[in-house]
This record gives sequence, C-alpha cells and structure tokens, in this order.
Amino acid sequence: MNTLPQLMSSGPVLGDGGYLIELERRGYVDSGSRRERVGTGRGSGQFTPEVAIERPHALRELHQEFLDSGSRVLQALTFFGTREKLSRAGYGAQTESINLAAVRLARDVAGDRALVAGSVSRTQLVEREGMGALDRARDHLAEQIRILKDAGVDLLILETFFHLAEMRAALECAATSGLPTIATMSFRPLVTQCSDGHSPADCARVMSDLGALAVGANCEQDPQRMLPLLRAMRSGTTLPLAAQPAAFHTTEACHSFTRLPEFPDDLETIQVSRRVFRDFARAARNEGIGYLGGCCGCNAAYIRALAEGLDEPMVA
Ligand SMILES: [Zn+2]
Repeated sequence: MNTLPQLMSSGPVLGDGGYLIELERRGYVDSGSRRERVGTGRGSGQFTPEVAIERPHALRELHQEFLDSGSRVLQALTFFGTREKLSRAGYGAQTESINLAAVRLARDVAGDRALVAGSVSRTQLVEREGMGALDRARDHLAEQIRILKDAGVDLLILETFFHLAEMRAALECAATSGLPTIATMSFRPLVTQCSDGHSPADCARVMSDLGALAVGANCEQDPQRMLPLLRAMRSGTTLPLAAQPAAFHTTEACHSFTRLPEFPDDLETIQVSRRVFRDFARAARNEGIGYLGGCCGCNAAYIRALAEGLDEPMVA
C-alpha cells in the first residue's frame, strides 16, 4: 500500500466519512437528543464512538461499505475519542480500548486496499470553558494521538475543530508523532470565520505552517456552500486542499447544519442528494482539492457518488 503522499501525488485521493450519524441512524450511536439539547455550542451532545467496543460488527460493516464504494482511506472511528469527551459520556475508563478497537477494525477491513486514518477532533473543553482550558485540551489531544500512533494508524485526520487555537495545539501534537496529517476546520454559524475569529485563509496558512500535508474544511456545510470556503482557503496556502462536506442543506442565515433546528432529529428533511456529491467531486479536480471525503449525512451511496465524479472524464 502506498503512503498518503504517494497516493496524493497521482491525483485527488478519496476517503470516506459520516460514520457517527450513519451509525446513529442505524441505532448504534447515541445522539444524546433525548437527554439534552444538542448542537448548542456548549459542548453538549453525545455522538461518542463506543460502538467500536459495544457493537463492532456494525462498525465493521460500515467500513466495508465505504471500502467497496471506492474509499482508499478508511477513517477509524476515533472521533470524539479523547479521554475528556469519553469521560463525559461515561466511557473515560475505556479510552484506550475504544481507540485501539476502532483502529483494529478499520485495519482488518482495509487490508492492503486502503490506508487507515486516526480521526482526532476537538475536546469540547475550549467551547465550554474558554481559552483557559487550552492546556488541558492539548494534554488530552496528545494522549489520544499517542494511543493512535501506538495502534498503528497510517495517518491522522484532525477534523471538526471550531477554534484555530485548539487546532494549533493538535497539529503540534501531531508533528511530535511524525504521522502524515490532514487538518480540516469546521466553520459555524457562518463560513466567514472560525469560532476564535480567524478567516478561512488565515486558518489555511496557520495549518500549513504547522506541518499538515493537506488543509481544508469538513462538516457543517453542504458541498455547494463549502466550495467558496475552500476557494477562500486557497489564498492562504499552496498545499493540496482537503474537503469533507456534510450532506445537509444549510441556509443563507446559517451556514452550519448543527445550528439548524433540524439537528439532530429532523435531519432527513434537509438531506442533500448524492448527485450534489458527484458534481462536487468533478469540481474538486479543478479546484486543487487533493483529498476528498464525506462527513455527516454521508453513507456509501455518497462516497460512491464522489468516486464516480472523480472518474468522469475531464472536459476542457
Ligand atoms: Zn460531520
């Protein structure tokens, strides 16, 4: 199996994404919506990855579906897998076992057909407690990245960070690990700035300077709304861009689906069609997007649509 830089040298690389919401729809992940109002930005909401130890067959099946759809990078389901977030969900003592099981499952399915990425997201400490919590957040991120490296991931995907300061901490931990790293921020409620006030171009520049192989955006926006955001990032970096859009419609007033009232229990009413993803993949080749995957709302049909879009002949 080639390394990520080798894969990226011969054109856009297709990954996957959307595990948690797809597994929530299948009944294997807790959205937390029956206990607390999720999506408030105060760190509420569950969406933790204990399915890796509690229902491994369900996670294995979804990995297989994404692989068969054309993904060449399987994301181990280690999203929200820091000890901080898992502790809030009652799984802190299982931090190592959840991360290890998730990587092992992805590796078993990937074989020599795909790379395995460790997914690392924000801790939620910064959004709940402010910048004073940044050092504790860094410690939690460093611990999870150490666990993922020991588990044998091929690369890291740092994703769904709202604050550039926390992304910076994560990238510093990733650099210590020596693993190839893709870094993507999530922007809400608007695509014009991240939660600590930096423009997309500034985010791209900082992430590039800290050693990422590809930088970009993931989650929150549908492909059409993410495209201008990626173009804005282009002005801050010469690296390949990474894009993992969500499959939910957003509005002119609110560019992030997790801030819409449909999240999480009415998401089916704002689902984006797979055709939009096929068109996005075709556009991606012209936009210098080097890494492409899905995020919330995507299942195998959407990854297959991305694969089909990448395969279509270029038109002059
Ligand atoms: Zn997402």
